[in-house]
Amino acid sequence: MTESVSGFCPELSDDVREVRDWVREFARDVVRPAGAEWDEREETPWPVIQEAAKIGLYSLDFFAGQWFEESGLGLAVAFEELFWGDAGIGLSIVGTGLAAAALASNGTPEQMGEWLPQMFGSVDDVKLGAFCASEPDAGSDVGAIRTRAVYDAAKDEWVLNGVKTWATNGGIANVHVVVASVDPSLGTRGQASFVVPPGTPGLSQGQKFRKHGIRASHTAEVILDDVRVPGDCLLGGKDKLDERLARVRSGARGGEQAAMRTFETTRPVVAAMAVGIARASFEYARDYAREREQFGRKIGENQAIAFLLADMATRVDVARFMTWRAAWMARHGRPFEQAEGSMSKLVASETAVWVSEQAIQILGGAGYTREHPVERFHRDAKIFTIFEGTSEIQRLIIGRAVTGLPVR
Ligand SMILES: Cc1cc2nc3c(=O)[nH]c(=O)nc-3n(C[C@H](O)[C@H](O)[C@H](O)COP(=O)(O)OP(=O)(O)OC[C@H]3O[C@@H](n4cnc5c(N)ncnc54)[C@H](O)[C@@H]3O)c2cc1C
Repeated sequence: MTESVSGFCPELSDDVREVRDWVREFARDVVRPAGAEWDEREETPWPVIQEAAKIGLYSLDFFAGQWFEESGLGLAVAFEELFWGDAGIGLSIVGTGLAAAALASNGTPEQMGEWLPQMFGSVDDVKLGAFCASEPDAGSDVGAIRTRAVYDAAKDEWVLNGVKTWATNGGIANVHVVVASVDPSLGTRGQASFVVPPGTPGLSQGQKFRKHGIRASHTAEVILDDVRVPGDCLLGGKDKLDERLARVRSGARGGEQAAMRTFETTRPVVAAMAVGIARASFEYARDYAREREQFGRKIGENQAIAFLLADMATRVDVARFMTWRAAWMARHGRPFEQAEGSMSKLVASETAVWVSEQAIQILGGAGYTREHPVERFHRDAKIFTIFEGTSEIQRLIIGRAVTGLPVR
């Protein structure tokens, strides 16, 4: 461990504890009981999102407040609780937050003021946001994005054309944030992000995917067919883009470090969601092992089961500590010398998959059925090793950081 974590303290402030208990209550009373139903329906759980909006959990205020919470642990703690309740519903509630983070990392204060509230809507008229980067031929390789953005100087408009895929809330969102290439010869450095305002002609939903897990969360293609957006929908503004492109074309490097840092800071937030699923799986299996009897004793009295539970509990705690460490580093501006953000996402997602699988094993046949939630936890956990950077991509980033070599 490097100097960059000196001062890290995992003790939660009173404010964070209060938020944790509040989200825990909502997750226990509203989210968990609804999990199985919305998983079966494979539909966006609007009534649950509305409930979350009513109490202020689904709101720009809540996300912004926790994002800027001073210890850095606020969002991680809240998301662990929410995803403990149910990951599909959890993602339906926080998907807008991920789109909002993409907007906030590139947008000007004016753009944030205009579009962030429209992503969330109001308590009486709840809206969603979507972030559209991935394409059929550009998943891990974001440099291969083909969606084009062409500037129409006469009208001061950008024209977007392309096909996005796997977009959470894609097509049903009020505001879409779209990554497009302005100069394809420059790869990621020739890309920019655009807001597509509500109701813009040319943006439509393509195929909605039927998934293995997180089935309450809407995932779809987004088709962009001559989508015209005003010039001020380019995040960061045209002057900044022109400057950046001129710098890149002149052979100057830079900018990658800033983008890398943004990813490192958002990964612990995603890791926290996986920790929530892992903890839910562990707790369910532990409670079952204390009750279920075979051979005249509780199955938890067998070392084989108790040791498994010991490993599960240990790995959940490891994942949480690494997540909190990275979240704390992000908040305190510490350098991610060993890609600690990626480490947290890698450990937490692999832990969620492993712990939820062991939970099925501990429940035996019952665990394999939909009478108990652990099979759903396992299906839900798997996405975390895939989206927001696959486990292989996390290892690539960590590998480069720890060796200093251009690992491929
Ligand atoms: C449910 C769901 C929700 C999503 N939500 C969003 C969203 O809201 N917005 C968005 O933009 N995207 C979203 N995604 C897309 C997600 O981020 C991509 O699926 C992910 O980045 C992987 O891309 P891919 O699926 O094209 O896989 P590929 O990139 O084709 O990878 C396939 C396999 O090859 C491996 N691989 C690829 N390159 C390398 C390499 N260099 N070294 C080693 N191994 C490699 C990968 O790790 C993986 O195992 C979502 C995806 C899903 C399934």
